[in-house]
Amino acid sequence: MTTNDTFLAALLGELTFTAEEITASEAAAAARSAEYTAKLAAERAALPKPCGKCNGRGRLEMFNHISGGVCFQCEGTGKAGHFSSRRVTHGGDMEAAF
Ligand SMILES: [Zn+2]
Repeated sequence: MTTNDTFLAALLGELTFTAEEITASEAAAAARSAEYTAKLAAERAALPKPCGKCNGRGRLEMFNHISGGVCFQCEGTGKAGHFSSRRVTHGGDMEAAF
């Protein structure tokens, strides 16, 4: 056996895991993954949903000539769920403009 072989054998020996160690490691990785996925889902849920009309910008450039382009659906907040009494469809906006 050369020095190199001995070194490799030692190295491989260190890198050999028992079935229990592999199972435990897999379980730990799965738990971390689940925890991370849950954390991401929670953070996503906590984020304010962007207004579907202005895509969260609060303004529509095509309506710059009307109230400075403020999005009527979210009233410039950029957030979905902020429905004002003035909520109108795209066609309604055009009617209001002309
Ligand atoms: Zn909007």
